Amino acid sequence: MVNGMHEALHPSFREPFEVVLQRNKGEREFQQAVFEVMQSLAPIEGRRPEYSQWSVLQRVIEPERQIIFRVPWVDDDGKVHVNRGYRVEFSSVLGPYKGGLRFHPSVNLSIIKFLGFEQVFKNALTGMPIGGGKGGSDFDPKGRSDGEIMRFCQSFMTELHRHLGEYTDVPAGDIGVGGRELGYLFGQYKRITNRYESGVLTGKGLTWGGSQVRTEATGYGAVFFTEQMLRTRGQSMDGKQAVVSGSGNVAIHAIEKIHQLGGKVIACSDSSGYVVDERGIDLELLKEVKEVRRGRLLEYAQIRGNGVRLIEDGSIWDVPCQIALPCATQNELDERDAKQLLTNGLEAIAEGANMPCTTEATALFQSSDCLYGPGKAANAGGVATSALEMQQNASRDSWTFEKTESRLQEIMSSIHESCLETADEYGDPGNYVMGANLAGYIKVANAMVAMGVI
Ligand code: NDP
Repeated sequence: MVNGMHEALHPSFREPFEVVLQRNKGEREFQQAVFEVMQSLAPIEGRRPEYSQWSVLQRVIEPERQIIFRVPWVDDDGKVHVNRGYRVEFSSVLGPYKGGLRFHPSVNLSIIKFLGFEQVFKNALTGMPIGGGKGGSDFDPKGRSDGEIMRFCQSFMTELHRHLGEYTDVPAGDIGVGGRELGYLFGQYKRITNRYESGVLTGKGLTWGGSQVRTEATGYGAVFFTEQMLRTRGQSMDGKQAVVSGSGNVAIHAIEKIHQLGGKVIACSDSSGYVVDERGIDLELLKEVKEVRRGRLLEYAQIRGNGVRLIEDGSIWDVPCQIALPCATQNELDERDAKQLLTNGLEAIAEGANMPCTTEATALFQSSDCLYGPGKAANAGGVATSALEMQQNASRDSWTFEKTESRLQEIMSSIHESCLETADEYGDPGNYVMGANLAGYIKVANAMVAMGVI
């Protein structure tokens, strides 16, 4: 999709982008993520000559290290399976590599690289001392027993552990990797290394080194960011109708915070379809179905009754709303969806997921009057709270829920401010995409210049 689009870039970036296309052939998601960042960089061209002198862009688009490994494991029937594991250590210029692990059958090198690349700038935006990385496997956890999940995680960590360390590389969860998986991963790391190195993984359970609010942080943070955007127009979440895609960790906690702030979420989804619940999504029921039973949204619709049903074909973005939070996966919202949302009166959209809007949908939102919070800024609350978890681990401390949530709120406000200030400074007021990309890039680039060619 990105092929041929490099003409849209500033002339100085066309050659580096051509290198990305040639060197990462067929890696569409990675190419898309690089293109989107490069599009935002034009205003610094000529203002920061040291960046081109030190070839910062050429270095930042190449991961520091890419690890691919075999993950053999045995299912409950004694059958051997082989999956592929990945860890892309993208940039350690601001701190240890930091970014989640994704277990999903769609995982490939392109997806892990796009996620790792985005993570570098997102982490820089948080202001915390963390570099960027991402990992995962094409393992499909759906329908697997706890025993199978545990054996897979143990095998995955048996290889991955040699690349990790609290000062080296610190993974967390992502799609398909939650509290249960992180427990098995941490247990295996502890056993192999014979070290209780709490700071090596984040998203841990509260009784064994985890932080309050980490589970809620990405969804809560995305809603705090949306609220900040609305405030620039003298509005708030109170009384707004919202649609949230997905029904996993990020979606559930985004719904929770929207309800706490007086908004009403009337639709959510999973990979089998979406439900519309005009009374407002029943969060307790959703949590029971998704987190306890690990079930499908069909069960939610059946138990909830009263005309709520699962819509299997069509798009959740057809449901009229003022606030949209895509919280499922990359490229889940395309140009048609964006047009529909705008026609239906969308006022604000914030990306809980990573790169959920296609390049065309992003362009449409940016040319409209709608507030648009890109994932690098809007979903940074998760990794920021991971950094708070590392901070608590390092000081052998644990903070209260209230203290941690208020730190998260401060961080989201400061990210919001930094996006707006940077967009102002570089001549495009209110452009959160440009503000987020530039603010993150400048932090990374300055550190790279300071450290020389490494
Ligand atoms: P979960 O695995 O908890 O939930 C993912 C949700 O999205 C599920 O409802 C899932 O449905 C749906 N989904 C996943 N893939 C697809 C697909 N290909 N098509 C349709 N629906 C899909 O993951 P998270 O909530 O943790 O992550 C969601 C997004 O947020 C991802 O983009 C992730 O990278 C991003 N993110 C997560 C952070 C975190 O802290 N967890 C931090 C920052 C970003 P089903 O169960 O049917 O597959």
